[in-house]
Amino acid sequence: MTETKPDVLDVIIVGGGPAGMCAAMYAGRGMLNALLIERGLPGGELLNTEKIEDYPGFESILGPELARKMADHARKFGATFVTDTVDKIKKREDGDFDLTTQMGKSYRAQTVIVTAGGTPNKLGVPGEKEYAGKGVSYCAVCDGAFFKNEVLAVIGGGDAAVEEADFLTRYASKVYIVHRRDTLRASKLLQQRAQNNPKIEFVWNKAVEAIVGEPSGVKHLRLVDTVTNASTTLDVGGVFIFIGFTPNSGIIADHFEHDPMGYIVTDTHMQTSIPGLFAAGDLRVQLTRQITTAVGDATTAAIAVEKYLAERKEAAAVGA
Ligand code: NAP
Repeated sequence: MTETKPDVLDVIIVGGGPAGMCAAMYAGRGMLNALLIERGLPGGELLNTEKIEDYPGFESILGPELARKMADHARKFGATFVTDTVDKIKKREDGDFDLTTQMGKSYRAQTVIVTAGGTPNKLGVPGEKEYAGKGVSYCAVCDGAFFKNEVLAVIGGGDAAVEEADFLTRYASKVYIVHRRDTLRASKLLQQRAQNNPKIEFVWNKAVEAIVGEPSGVKHLRLVDTVTNASTTLDVGGVFIFIGFTPNSGIIADHFEHDPMGYIVTDTHMQTSIPGLFAAGDLRVQLTRQITTAVGDATTAAIAVEKYLAERKEAAAVGA
């Protein structure tokens, strides 16, 4: 444990998804004075995922169950979880960080690991806001069961769209995957699974122009062909939108290096361009965003934090 003023934590972890919980576990094992701040239940995207089949050691496990196991594991090593939403992270002149929250609390820490993930992207078409919760959804696990025997559309061509379309076929009578191109971005395994599912039909080269409905809910989509520009309609009782997400990096008040989409650039220690501020998981610039990559990032970040704290202490001792 580093010796600091009692009100200054060694590290604050922002976000309680797999990356956050893994960082908290390592911080606990490293005997750091650490706090994890999460706005909801610990678990992040795991809570929106039914079955996980690509986490080593667990051939198949339910998302919420893996979330619970990760939280228990972190707590076992002494991690402290707080429920609140971090509004702002700001570096102080003395090198520490100030964090403020929506509940009006302030925290101070020597280092911060941001693992705040992202927010689902919106299509931005007429009807999307109007029918949110009345046929428009961004979470198949949360809302799928409301659509028993309905015809549904899933928008997108990435892993999330294809995987969630497959999941939705357990409730829906049919699921259209509406994609703006004629090739998918999703992994080959997920593509094969969807292609072999008789309830799934692909609708290629179509962009959604509008989501149309009645007060009771969604009735159809107005589509435009991205090649021919022809307009068509598709009758559906619900639409699930999986077109990527935007990283929650806006909470960092100071300038930091990021890509054009707002994903945070880090070095190999997961340190951002702001010394002492680390990032792990889905909001970091990287090739892919898996649970395994999130916990890998978090492991590196937590160990790098220990190294950073030791070096800072040494520098302070030399300067003193
Ligand atoms: P993604 O990989 O970024 O895919 C987004 C999809 O939405 C793309 O097909 C994109 O089309 C389409 N899209 C984007 N904006 C659109 C718009 N305005 N209108 C219509 N379509 C639009 O996002 P994701 O599927 O959410 O996945 C995010 C990350 O999580 C990825 O790294 C993925 O590998 C990972 N993930 C993994 C798993 C798994 O392995 N089981 C499951 C879920 C997510 P284009 O292809 O034309 O760009």
